[in-house]
Amino acid sequence: MEYDIVIGMEIHAELATKTKIFCSCPTTFGADENTHTCPVCLGMPGVLPVLNKKVVEYATKAGLALNCKIANFSKMDRKNYFYPDLPKAYQTSQFDLPICVGGVLDIEVGGETRPIGITRIHIEEDAGKLIHEGADGTLVDVNRCGVPLIEIVTEPDMRSAEEARIFAEKVRNILEYTGVSDCKMEEGSIRFDVNLSVKEKGSPVLGTRTEMKNLNSFRALERAVHYESKRQIIELKKGHRIIQETRKWDDVKGVSSSMRSKEEAHDYRYFPEPDLVPIVISDEEIAQAKAELPELPEAKKARYVSEYGIPEYDASVITTSKASAAYFEEAVAAYNEPKLIANWLMVDIPAHLKERELTMETIPFGPVALAGLVKLIKSGEISGKIAKNVMEKMFEGEGDPETIVKDHGWAQMSDSGELENIIKQVIADNPKSVSDIADGNKKAYGFLTGQVMRATKGQANPQMANQIIRKLVEEQIGSAE
Ligand code: ADP
Ligand code: MG
Ligand code: ZN
Repeated sequence: MEYDIVIGMEIHAELATKTKIFCSCPTTFGADENTHTCPVCLGMPGVLPVLNKKVVEYATKAGLALNCKIANFSKMDRKNYFYPDLPKAYQTSQFDLPICVGGVLDIEVGGETRPIGITRIHIEEDAGKLIHEGADGTLVDVNRCGVPLIEIVTEPDMRSAEEARIFAEKVRNILEYTGVSDCKMEEGSIRFDVNLSVKEKGSPVLGTRTEMKNLNSFRALERAVHYESKRQIIELKKGHRIIQETRKWDDVKGVSSSMRSKEEAHDYRYFPEPDLVPIVISDEEIAQAKAELPELPEAKKARYVSEYGIPEYDASVITTSKASAAYFEEAVAAYNEPKLIANWLMVDIPAHLKERELTMETIPFGPVALAGLVKLIKSGEISGKIAKNVMEKMFEGEGDPETIVKDHGWAQMSDSGELENIIKQVIADNPKSVSDIADGNKKAYGFLTGQVMRATKGQANPQMANQIIRKLVEEQIGSAE
């Protein structure tokens, strides 16, 4: 029997507010343990939460960017459960009336457009962190308690690991653009839970699902889907039933294992949060949030194709991060060669960034410097080959490309007299090539050009070198006849 894979996702994103959701403690990542706390986020008796207005604004913007309907009226609820990282013993969340509902996000998979339904987006608070110290026990850090989150819940609309990965990447990209979250996966600012089931191919009836929580890279997400779908199919083929449960994905071992049986909504004893008033958003406020949304990746991509004339592929690579798109636009503003600039941003720069563990946010030179480098090539002052060395030095912090070229004496040889002398020597040293050319083997020209580039350490202008070689060789052949 053949099977369909069915995936629905729950995505948690920490909102980029300066302070927590119900108190004025800071949200900055990486502070000393338990220094960002107060009676409110520690859940002391008698304290009262006050909803951070920015949270409502950011959740509204996220909802609009994901084509949701924004509720004029929503409310907070208590989700009760005990866990050591949750001092209040309940999480303030939203249950039956979330702030956003009914969105959709189209993804492109293998040339096909697939609409993925967004069931809802709700506001909630993050829990703290447990630090396991092995035999020494477990420590609690409550700095993260009360950091605002949105949870995005999708319909079970995805059908493969690739679709799940593309969807997750696209949501992250959009949230980053809108500025509602910094989306740093390595800091846990955005976390993906995958719900997965398999069913008889084509059947309208969904199978029993399992959930894998907190997949912290796109690669882990894809691998987890591959593994878990295979596992479920094998179970079904053996005649076993799938147990609805939460499973842990171990990315090092490449396996998922059972963690606990899935809790049901009624286990949480949800009830309306009595200490907070409902959230009322007017149509004017929604319109205002919409007007404040920046250009989103899709629109940007289309504009790059039409305005800058770069290929769609280039545009999609460059718009995968807000920082690289901004960098590109500034570089093009400094020197109007979009395609040449795009090439560097797609190949050499990512390779350097990866090697040096940098990002477009921490790249050691600005867009004007990149524009300067492209200009040096375009104007013939340096060859494309030398340009790669110049970029290396730019990454090493040697300053702007013009200075680097000067300091290293890398300017292309544009003095034809000097170049002619070198070429004369090369021709004299390679009489075999000249006789080959005389015998009609034009390939030998390529060899001579290579020798000239070598003799000039790549600094000869190849077109100029070619012309001079042809002129001198023809003269020599002519005089020999
Ligand atoms: P719960 O309230 O138990 O978390 P939800 O109905 O909110 O369940 O669904 C949680 C997630 O699981 C959603 O993303 C949804 O699309 C997904 N989901 C629900 N049923 C299935 C299924 N049979 N197979 C795969 N995913 C599913
Ligand atoms: Mg749920
Ligand atoms: Zn606090």
